Amino acid sequence: MLSVTPIPAFSDNYIWLLRQDTTPDVCVVDPGDAAPVIELLERESLSLSTVMITHHHPDHTGGLAELIKRYSPRVIGPDNEAIGGIDTPVTEGDEIRVMGRLFEVIAVPGHTLDHIAFFTPGIPPLLFGGDALFSAGCGRLFEGSPEQMHGSLQKLAALPDDTLIFAAHEYTEANLRFALAADPHNPDVVQAMQECQRARELERPTLPTSMAREKRINPFLRVADAGVRQAGSVHGSVDSDEATFTTLRAWKDNF
Ligand code: ZN
Ligand code: FE
Repeated sequence: MLSVTPIPAFSDNYIWLLRQDTTPDVCVVDPGDAAPVIELLERESLSLSTVMITHHHPDHTGGLAELIKRYSPRVIGPDNEAIGGIDTPVTEGDEIRVMGRLFEVIAVPGHTLDHIAFFTPGIPPLLFGGDALFSAGCGRLFEGSPEQMHGSLQKLAALPDDTLIFAAHEYTEANLRFALAADPHNPDVVQAMQECQRARELERPTLPTSMAREKRINPFLRVADAGVRQAGSVHGSVDSDEATFTTLRAWKDNF
């Protein structure tokens, strides 16, 4: 059976570890730092056979060189030469087999232009979304336009509701603080904040989240909601879903 566990890195990154109980060969997603990965692999007598990369930022790629030197894994990632070490560049629609599961590549530009997500159907379906979709939030727009990011999130929202979302950062509490302002009459956000704070007190990750949950609590997936529109209208245009997304993203940047 495939299991997915977080390897915490830096102050709020998660490097997701995929393992099967039948083999010591494992996969990690977005190893920004090699040290915590190596430490875990050594301690559990595992070997690294595959790395998946979602985008070029150093907090997702910084451990690559050392891991390649040590384990020579297959490295799957965006078709971006700026990321050294990718031997299997992939783009929208490509399919790759990793840890016995077939993953589809989904282009999700916005946070960066090279950003991709890895989705595998199954029970449950899994999404490794990097910095595109967080619990109750989405990535900042460093390279792409709001229109691109809105389109990317719409593509992800079309995935099955039971999809488990493995995001790369523990940003949930700050995101929910914004969600309370952007979606002020939504009781699910209030409840999510209580659950989040309880998890953080116990030093537990708030991830993975699910697509069904995000559709209830993530203001960036709720731009068509009347309450979100009304809250957003104080900060900018809410004339269309895309305009509301643009307004929310700019509001959150200064929140
Ligand atoms: Zn990033
Ligand atoms: Fe990041």
